[in-house]
Amino acid sequence: MTTDIIIINRNLRILDNAALYYGSLRSNYIVVYLYDENYWKANGKSSRQLKFSNDCLKELNEDLREVHSKINIFEGNFDDLKNWIHANYKDYFIHMNHCTDVGYFRDGFERFKNYFQKKIKIYDDFGLQLDNFDRDSWSKNWNHIMNKDVLGPPKISHNKDEIQLTDFKSYQAKLNSNLKHSKSIQKGGTSIANDLLETFLEHRCEGYRTKMSSPVLSEKTCSRLSPHFTYGSVSIRQVYQQLNKLLPLLNNKKDLYSFKKRLYWHCHFVQKLHTEPELEFNSMHRMCDDLRTEHDDEMIEKWITGKTGFPFLDACMKFLQTDGWINFRMRAMIMSFASYNMWQPWQKTSPLLARLFTDYEPGIHISQVQMQSGVTGINLPRIYSVTKQSMDQDPNAYWIKSLLPELKKFDPKIIHNANLNGSYLPKIVDLKASAKFARDRVWSIRKDKAFKEEAKLVYLKHGSRRKRKLTAN
Ligand SMILES: Cc1cc2nc3c(=O)[nH]c(=O)nc-3n(C[C@H](O)[C@H](O)[C@H](O)COP(=O)(O)OP(=O)(O)OC[C@H]3O[C@@H](n4cnc5c(N)ncnc54)[C@H](O)[C@@H]3O)c2cc1C
Repeated sequence: MTTDIIIINRNLRILDNAALYYGSLRSNYIVVYLYDENYWKANGKSSRQLKFSNDCLKELNEDLREVHSKINIFEGNFDDLKNWIHANYKDYFIHMNHCTDVGYFRDGFERFKNYFQKKIKIYDDFGLQLDNFDRDSWSKNWNHIMNKDVLGPPKISHNKDEIQLTDFKSYQAKLNSNLKHSKSIQKGGTSIANDLLETFLEHRCEGYRTKMSSPVLSEKTCSRLSPHFTYGSVSIRQVYQQLNKLLPLLNNKKDLYSFKKRLYWHCHFVQKLHTEPELEFNSMHRMCDDLRTEHDDEMIEKWITGKTGFPFLDACMKFLQTDGWINFRMRAMIMSFASYNMWQPWQKTSPLLARLFTDYEPGIHISQVQMQSGVTGINLPRIYSVTKQSMDQDPNAYWIKSLLPELKKFDPKIIHNANLNGSYLPKIVDLKASAKFARDRVWSIRKDKAFKEEAKLVYLKHGSRRKRKLTAN
């Protein structure tokens, strides 16, 4: 009898999980989780992300008990897994959800898929359209995908195979001894994701559109679902449908339309990396790779450890170090500072920043990093002023002082302008002069005719076609 081998990866949930659902239909299936140590050391990956995904894995293992199944841990890479399947199974079929990820994963995944060919089925996930590279129809299809029925739990398993793989308990014991993290880092799992969604829709979303820009307020007002989407502890479709059901009944529709728009953006950005995996290493507009050809390790180290001499920026970095999350506006400012004021190539800074994000989603991260570095060719460059953001988002400097207590006695104005004359770290750049230098350099190439021609092609491949306001459906 055919054994269905379901390989799970970043889709750590029981519901609306295509590989799990379709792989279970013959009721003779096993579920395998691929744990590859080297994957967690790849471009931008880190142990805080592993910890979060492991929380999700534990809950999924519990949920699978209900259907008489469990997670079997396979330790190794895709090639090892291929050999194991080959050695242990004759009559089998593999089910796996697609996942757009970094090169290390992509290369192994491609080899694995190509080897098994007719013995493997890859399912769409994360709102992606695997074979659709046409941006016009992509946008139209998205609503259709989001409105499809949410898949139920897998069928009961009657599989009796004696599987010689790492036992879940000993895997957990091994992992836990290596994973110690700050308590402020988000915890994973479907029940936490559901609670977050419920409280967000019920009351936390009040004022979402304006409060999301503040590093102080956004911690509570934003949905905080991002790592759950990254590790698939909840499906975007489920969230989209729950939101649509509630929208007509809720007062603050504008806030929730903004949230809905972001669900679309999530998929739109991941699709960019799926369409052009080279974006992990190359600028969307290739001419921009000639802009910043040198880097300064010492300067980058000061930036990532929050020692730039600009209190607001340093406070953001300290917050990110302990919490593993910060809001969109601050991420944009942090990146803008590195790429414009410090004039460092995004390829050097992006993975360091990614490692701090529990929600690191390569498709979103890499595209956003490129946008905030002015290298896409299709977005107008925006240089964030750290001074202005400091004054706008934390006028009394309470938040800054809570993170940098050594500045407690200083006047907010002095803190915003980083005029601390020897009482704080020296500034690593001159804000105004560095912004002017960057603006001149970026605009000097943007005026070029060849640049504009190439930018048109970039737009055709990656530009958003969504001009209309999103409707309730
Ligand atoms: C330099 C930079 C790097 C980023 N890296 C990541 C990343 O690795 N992973 C990640 O999920 N987001 C990333 N973002 C986008 C955004 O900052 C986060 O999605 C958001 O802050 C997550 O918090 P939340 O879940 O409370 O978001 P909410 O505001 O509640 O938004 C809901 C969801 O919409 C999606 N979303 C929100 N904003 C964006 C956006 N601008 N682009 C695409 N999708 C969006 C996310 O899935 C998010 O969870 C990055 C932004 C920048 C500027």
